[in-house]
Amino acid sequence: MNYISTRNSSDSFKFEDVFIKGLADDGGLFIPKSIHKYSQNDLLKLKNLEYKELAKKIIFPFIGDFMSEQDLSEIIDKSYSVFRKQNVVELVKIGDRSVLELFHGPTLAFKDIAMQLLGNFYEYYLNNKKNKINIVVATSGDTGAAAIDAIKGKENINIFVLHPNNRISPVQRKLMTTGKEKNVFNIAVEGSFDDCQNIVKAMFTDQAFANEIKMSGVNSINWARIIAQSVYYFYSYFLVEDNSEPINFAVPTGNFGDVYAGYLAKKIGLPINKFIVATNQNDILHRAITNGAYNVENVLETISPSMDIQIASNFERLIFDLNNHSDKKTIDVMKGIKEKGKYEIQKENLDKINVDFLSSRMDEIEVLNTIKNVYEKFNKVLDPHSAIGYGAFDKVDLKGNNIVLATAHPCKFPGAIEKAINIKAELPDELLFILDEKENYDIIDNDFNKIKQYIKERI
Ligand SMILES: *Cc1c(COP(=O)(O)O)cnc(C)c1O
Repeated sequence: MNYISTRNSSDSFKFEDVFIKGLADDGGLFIPKSIHKYSQNDLLKLKNLEYKELAKKIIFPFIGDFMSEQDLSEIIDKSYSVFRKQNVVELVKIGDRSVLELFHGPTLAFKDIAMQLLGNFYEYYLNNKKNKINIVVATSGDTGAAAIDAIKGKENINIFVLHPNNRISPVQRKLMTTGKEKNVFNIAVEGSFDDCQNIVKAMFTDQAFANEIKMSGVNSINWARIIAQSVYYFYSYFLVEDNSEPINFAVPTGNFGDVYAGYLAKKIGLPINKFIVATNQNDILHRAITNGAYNVENVLETISPSMDIQIASNFERLIFDLNNHSDKKTIDVMKGIKEKGKYEIQKENLDKINVDFLSSRMDEIEVLNTIKNVYEKFNKVLDPHSAIGYGAFDKVDLKGNNIVLATAHPCKFPGAIEKAINIKAELPDELLFILDEKENYDIIDNDFNKIKQYIKERI
């Protein structure tokens, strides 16, 4: 499969470039040049597969020039052996909807599902190339932990993680900062997640620096993450499928990565009806999808910190689609967003968006109330992010089989859980030790050059 950038549709790239670079040199995002659609018959063949087997089938066409089917098969088995569930994810019924638990990996959030695979992709790449790599990643709390767990202790690779100081939960932070491996560096930036993300983006576009340190990125813009995440849409779809009913997904959304993975599944032939883009008070995507106003505002701190984002990086992939794959138009739109913080989506494009996407928004009280109601009625504890997905189906009326993505384990956000239902959300036993472990991280100003310097001194 060949790839292009959303800001340059003439040059073509191999999966290896796409994966290792993360972001294209022109600042655009990689997408396949063309994709093959599954037929009804193809889907039937995928329907009864175990999660790992399904993952092998879905991922291989995207990466066929990077490794053999046999190598991929081994890597998938290895990556998913660290999950607490045989089939990686678990689908449970809570009330009238299905909840897809994606948090049974080592760091208790859905990001493990893509990241464990990426960690082993790097290992494979480095074994073949005898290169060294430095990963730099911004996190709103969960990506960093998942990336560190996937990369820690691996040879010829360092990982630098930027998180917004004091704006992630202590459990989220401890999952990142308590490791002892020498190839892991945690930076607490005095700023928001968007500041962290902007610094990482600026490093990628600073080509001298990016080349000097052999920089690679695992943020949610990395195409490899998107394809790994599209697998669980297939898996859960097949579990609830009953031919008469449309199937909808509610997806707690920040960077538009996870829901874009669902959209990719739809584009390659899985007949999903609608996605609800479920946001917290940082509702830029809700405003964009309901009335076309993609206007960047200040980031608010919420009890669902992994969604405290105003600049939804993956949205550029959708913008590219809406503008009929015109790199010129995409560049214009992205320039406008960067310079004016605004993108007015025209009626015609908004209608196109609404074919696939609806949206919802929850304020803090609503999130707490959803956690409380679900607990009282069904004796299930949802984390604040998953609660936003769950409640989305009360705000947007969609008939059919409704699936909520549960993106994190409630124990990652004990403060919010205690506030909502006055119980302590306990960590799984095997992770209890992190609570007393010494933490390692450095606090640095929100300053591009200082952070560059920090990295240079450590590689
Ligand atoms: C990252 C994250 C999200 C948002 O996912 P995006 O791909 O950024 O939209 C939602 N919930 C949790 C728990 C997360 O860690």
